[in-house]
Amino acid sequence: MRRIAVEEAFVTADVIKGWESALVRADVEPGFAKMGANTLAPTAGNKWVHDRLLDLGADRLVNMDRDGIDVHVLSLTAPGVQVLRDANLATRLAAEANDVLAEATKRHPTRFAGLGAVAPQDPVAAAKEIERCSGKLGLNGLVINSHTNGEYLDHPKYHPLFEAAEAADMAIYLHPREPAPSLVGPFLDYGLYFAIYGFAVETALHSMRLIMSGTFDRFPKLKIVLGHMGEGLPFWLQRIDNRYLLQVKVGATKKLPRLPSEYFLDNFLITTAGVTSMPALRLSLDVVGTDKIMFAADYPYEDVGAAVRFLDEAKITEEERRKIYQDNATRIFKLKV
Ligand code: MN
Repeated sequence: MRRIAVEEAFVTADVIKGWESALVRADVEPGFAKMGANTLAPTAGNKWVHDRLLDLGADRLVNMDRDGIDVHVLSLTAPGVQVLRDANLATRLAAEANDVLAEATKRHPTRFAGLGAVAPQDPVAAAKEIERCSGKLGLNGLVINSHTNGEYLDHPKYHPLFEAAEAADMAIYLHPREPAPSLVGPFLDYGLYFAIYGFAVETALHSMRLIMSGTFDRFPKLKIVLGHMGEGLPFWLQRIDNRYLLQVKVGATKKLPRLPSEYFLDNFLITTAGVTSMPALRLSLDVVGTDKIMFAADYPYEDVGAAVRFLDEAKITEEERRKIYQDNATRIFKLKV
């Protein structure tokens, strides 16, 4: 059995430059401004994170070997190109990052696979980039770092993007970032906008918007991957169905062909990224099942050794362990390694 980790981050120098240009904008997003001040600027005393993110070679492989990770399924780290206002720049930076990623996977085909970044700012160009990721670049899926300039993907203008993802049979990893400007206000205190809690609220909300908007009726084969044990949603599903039914009855919510939980169970997969809690894994196994959970370590942000120890020692069956570490990722991302 090989340990495949599916939410492993990288960045390019040009994407960092793009963030820097977004950070100095007069109308910079409040959450991103805080994030930038605390973590993104290479001057902020976290040079080692940038060095690890920028490296797609020897140092990363040494760290993977040390932690017992066989494969990184790489993705452009948050907030990716999602903070860029200029659609052409966002589209170009995503494509260039995908070139860098594809090249790394060709250099180390047994160690790296990759999720292509897309810029929803130009949905038609994003659809073309998805075709390129699936065809010429041979990438394994897609990543979108939640909201794009405050907009969520349930808006009909993003349909071309989902059409292309569905046609290419590429799962979209919906990765967290700071809550959208319309949501972030109360999260700005106490560091709540960050991964402690705001990331999960943002990404779970985004997922619920996709479900409640009927996106999966239009795109029934669309697959969304959520990190962090499903951003809390597996815990909520029964309650969501319960209140959905009441709200339909009183006219507060439009009736969908299926229950919210049915879309979640059919169209979503989750990963363990950053979670080493047995109760959370147990609940997730009970709710979403053994075939819908993948291992992720969230390199370089998390303690990868601790994530490996957790899953190695978790009181689950060996079949469950093999599916979570290897089989599910191989199937969902069509890994050839
Ligand atoms: Mn991550």
